[in-house]
Amino acid sequence: MPENAVYKADRVANRGVTAWLPDHAVIVEGGRISDVIPQGELTAGISDTHAVHELGDVSLLPGLIEAHAHMHTAAGPDPLYTQHSAFNDSKELFIMRAVDHLRTALLSGVTTMRDLGGPTDVVFPVRDAVRAGVIPGPRLQLAGAPITTTSGHCWFFGSEADTAEEVVRAIRAQVKMGADLIKIMSTGGMFTPQANPRSAQYPVETLRAAVIEAERLNVQIVSHCLAAVGVRNCIEAGIHCLIHARWFDSDFSKGLAYDPDMAQMAADKGIWADPTTGHIMVGDVRIAAGDVPARVPHWAVSATTVSEEEHDVVLRDMRERGVRFVTGLDMGMAHGEFDKSAANAWSFVELLGFTNWEAMAASTVDTAESLRLGTETGAIRPGLSADLMAVSGDPANDIQDLFNPTDVVVEGRLVKRDGRALV
Ligand SMILES: [Zn+2]
Repeated sequence: MPENAVYKADRVANRGVTAWLPDHAVIVEGGRISDVIPQGELTAGISDTHAVHELGDVSLLPGLIEAHAHMHTAAGPDPLYTQHSAFNDSKELFIMRAVDHLRTALLSGVTTMRDLGGPTDVVFPVRDAVRAGVIPGPRLQLAGAPITTTSGHCWFFGSEADTAEEVVRAIRAQVKMGADLIKIMSTGGMFTPQANPRSAQYPVETLRAAVIEAERLNVQIVSHCLAAVGVRNCIEAGIHCLIHARWFDSDFSKGLAYDPDMAQMAADKGIWADPTTGHIMVGDVRIAAGDVPARVPHWAVSATTVSEEEHDVVLRDMRERGVRFVTGLDMGMAHGEFDKSAANAWSFVELLGFTNWEAMAASTVDTAESLRLGTETGAIRPGLSADLMAVSGDPANDIQDLFNPTDVVVEGRLVKRDGRALV
């Protein structure tokens, strides 16, 4: 049972994550936030009933929401190692790696994580172990095995389904096994040599059947999409979140085929996007510093180079049209280490024109809303789960201060205090 506690900090994020409340205290009872008040209004006897934690000169935020992880894969600077291990490692190694990754993410301030694809006999038992308190980890929302075509993107940990009928059956099977949402691969991906990222894996009719089935079963459905044709299919079908949202032309000799009208339709339909710019920026910084070799491009994009800046121009236009972004790092892919969720906000500021506060809101309250968890977590306000992260410094001034977590609370349990892991 989590303890009743008071967390006093010089800076506490307000409920909209738009400004600091100075010298406030967050009162936690039964794992939930019961009040947020100026420290001067705390009663003298509160320490008789609550553990009082003087966090001091820190910035106290809602815990980060990481919307895109693959808990079982080996993140790291070498894409070939990540790929090789995803193909070849044993189930037991996947599970042990996932356990380690969840603890790492939690101690970095991630209190909610959405896993967007892993083997069902790995990710579901690991989630059960977190829920049972056997291992530490963030609150988890799992897609289970991503649905893909035969030999399609991530077939090696996916659920292969080709026709609309097979896709509908695969969705039912994932939900039956315990999936909280559905991930479907609408195009090929860079991680899969046998797939083509520039072409659609499913026609719009199949994606529409998938959306109808997911909605019938009351689960969200999100889709990996790298090719413009796939993005278009997803938007027309009403997929709830576009993962990556890269608009590669299907013609190998061309760059992007961005369609602003389709982006407008996405905004009008309330479709979210996960641009996964964080891990790309981490990789670009390392490559520029000479720490790691340049990426080896997938065969489908090797003939025509598209710079990150070209993608970012498109993403900025999508945002200006009203598409809202979630903070998904693609944890588990190269440069997507499990302590780097803060890179999402950093990249939104550096690449996409967010203010620091907009980026902090994206990482917390906005992404919670997208995950349909807005009444459970994502803000510091009475009634919500006590999911908190304190960082040294002030990320309103320097967004990279989000990389300096000192204290972490998940569902009312203090798991890191003053830089020291308690789990
Ligand atoms: Zn991914």
